[in-house]
Amino acid sequence: MIILVIGAHRDDCEIGAGGLIAKAVRKEHQVILVTVCAGGIDDWCVSKGREKEYREWTIRKAKEMMSVEKILLPYGDKNVITDMETRKEVYKKLSEIILEIRPDITLFHNRFETMPADHGIVGELAEYAVVFGGYYESEIN
Ligand SMILES: [Zn+2]
Repeated sequence: MIILVIGAHRDDCEIGAGGLIAKAVRKEHQVILVTVCAGGIDDWCVSKGREKEYREWTIRKAKEMMSVEKILLPYGDKNVITDMETRKEVYKKLSEIILEIRPDITLFHNRFETMPADHGIVGELAEYAVVFGGYYESEIN
């Protein structure tokens, strides 16, 4: 079974679905985590100046410590996915990932979660991508 977990920020997948992820990995299911707003790490004081190293470390540690694949998308955090063009881009990217991976189960934020706003926006876009994946030109307008 392939399980896809989509989160807005770098710790959302693990915090929101950590127990399920651990059990699924233990049962040898394939688990893939997507962090949509991973672009925000560029501004994070801990990683400032070594962004590429931090991205590679994050992906490597997810594999070593949790036996999962982690995909980092380049969108910033702090409520930056507010314009329609960026929303369309994120929706298209999530649709492409879903069409490529073809997960059996996909987990994501509740679209009505408003604090922070990124959670609800990513939840809504992930829901559209799961339901309408591949038809991303018209559904989001
Ligand atoms: Zn978050």
